[in-house]
Amino acid sequence: MLKDREVSEILAKECAQQASVLRMIASENIVSDDVLAALGSCFVNRYSEGYPGKRYYQGQAHTDALEQLTCARAKALFGAGHVNVQSYSGSPANMAAYMALCGVGDRIVGLGLNSGGHLTHGWKVNFSGKLYEAHQVEVNRETEHLDYDEVAALCRQVRPKVLFIGTTSYSLALDFARLREIADECGAYLVADIAHVAGLVVAGAYPNPVPYADVVTLTTHKTLRGPRGGMILCRSEHAKAIDRAVFPGIQGGPHMNQIAALAVALDEAQQPAFRAYGHQMVANARALASALTSRGLRIVSGGTDCHLMVVDLRPKGVDGKRAAMALEESGIVCNFNAIPYDPNPPRMPSGIRLGTPSLTTRGLKEAEMIRIADWIVEVLDAPEDAATHQRIAASIHNFLSAYPNRH
Ligand SMILES: *Cc1c(COP(=O)(O)O)cnc(C)c1O
Repeated sequence: MLKDREVSEILAKECAQQASVLRMIASENIVSDDVLAALGSCFVNRYSEGYPGKRYYQGQAHTDALEQLTCARAKALFGAGHVNVQSYSGSPANMAAYMALCGVGDRIVGLGLNSGGHLTHGWKVNFSGKLYEAHQVEVNRETEHLDYDEVAALCRQVRPKVLFIGTTSYSLALDFARLREIADECGAYLVADIAHVAGLVVAGAYPNPVPYADVVTLTTHKTLRGPRGGMILCRSEHAKAIDRAVFPGIQGGPHMNQIAALAVALDEAQQPAFRAYGHQMVANARALASALTSRGLRIVSGGTDCHLMVVDLRPKGVDGKRAAMALEESGIVCNFNAIPYDPNPPRMPSGIRLGTPSLTTRGLKEAEMIRIADWIVEVLDAPEDAATHQRIAASIHNFLSAYPNRH
């Protein structure tokens, strides 16, 4: 309880809400009490510009020890040649990767937003689309799979300096060996952005790009279940350029409390229980996808290899925005999402994105996913029926009381 009453009140309501609804936003999770404690530790008081042994401020014995420990844990966990743990989040980590590997005006190739890529992969209103000559590849219109021949053809034509591939709402596993071949063929650097799937990679539930990519960027707060933050892994030959791009290229002082929490999360991620957690996220997503499919919905790309999926709602005649609002009223929180080649506008797209990280952390398994699919379909069949929404919200609240909202 804080002395600040107003903030305490909002905080208490937020905590109660997180506990009582099905949190299915694919980028969210629930951190451990230890991660939370490290994030709220006295390291928040420090300023530590620079790197261990090369700081611009005095009194850094413990910040140096902490950052070195965090880097060592990350290197071991991902098998990387070099690690930088200072990025404030995923977007600045991506900015650092570009800055280290190419210059303003250079050509880049990324995965389009509606095909499941991220804003930072060359979207026109993002820095990546403004500072670089960005070309985007889209998934195949028929299969909604990433077609590697099409990626190769675009790269042959564009000859990018950087091939930047990662997924925010694409549910199938990427073939990093093939992407490496394509990058080599046109003399491009390969960056793999595993912001979403980093925890799955650690768990062995998703391919690891580290052997193939020049640089791998990730967020530490999605499936990796750590504090909000970013991380960069790279081959040793890029170490200097990456470190310089992060500091002083983009950022000032690192958030040492965030790095403390990351160290704790990395230790948690190397435990056997985390392996099981990673595989369960995927098993849950597959159970949910197949239950939704058998109830008349369509999963974009035909299924999932990870913790998320985009659901095409057109079979139910409801748009993504309306559906996401009705689901929220029913105690199911997700986000509206475009589908590839979406005929509808971005604020009212044809789909929703669903993810299993938070639910899996709470201990839900395949059987519960089927129950959730029933609730989702019931809401989508009655998107304007407030009484149905209230009844389902109450059932979900009751159902979730059996699952602790922490771990
Ligand atoms: C979430 C995400 C990011 C950005 O991370 P932020 O921490 O929100 O800046 C970058 N790339 C991908 C693929 C993501 O999914």
